[in-house]
Amino acid sequence: MPIERVGGERGNLLIKHSPKFQVWYYFLLNQQLCMRPLPVPDVSFNYEKAKTIPPLQPRPKETASGYRMVQADLDRLQEFRKCIECFLCQDVCHVIRDHEENKPRFAGPCFFIRLAELEMHPLDTGDRRALLKEQAGLGLCNITKCCSEVCPEKIQITDNGIIPPAVHFLRCAMDDGDE
Ligand code: SF4
Ligand code: SF4
Repeated sequence: MPIERVGGERGNLLIKHSPKFQVWYYFLLNQQLCMRPLPVPDVSFNYEKAKTIPPLQPRPKETASGYRMVQADLDRLQEFRKCIECFLCQDVCHVIRDHEENKPRFAGPCFFIRLAELEMHPLDTGDRRALLKEQAGLGLCNITKCCSEVCPEKIQITDNGIIPPAVHFLRCAMDDGDE
């Protein structure tokens, strides 16, 4: 049967492709080789959530040659573009990890950075405030930072993708209330 060995920063994996797909984690403990099976999580929820996020809505081009953007605005988005959609952050988030009932109203950290990327995009004209609050459930996040800790791309999900939009929306709500 085909077996593939995969080395990585956080350990080594054995992947058996047939007759049944299995992933094993192996490591040395007291000079003995130990192996543990890794559960393969069901990530179908994430693909359903991805469909609910409206794509970029660019404003009209400003010049004949195209758009103009400040480099600093683009630099801010680069961190979010590193996401490889491994969904580790979704798997550890306690809001949905053990609470199926929260899934319909909580997008999860992977999609918070997708939404943050769109909201911070200098060309985007969309307004996702209602989506973030009502369908994506930003308010359910209690800033535990578990998602940031497991991200293999070291994206600062909580500090850069969750807190800034939350603060921004809070300010908008206060401004609306002042009017
Ligand atoms: S910081 Fe928020 S999104 Fe990240 S794991 Fe904690 S509750 Fe979930
Ligand atoms: S853990 Fe990091 S790379 Fe993986 S899906 Fe989440 S944000 Fe993307």
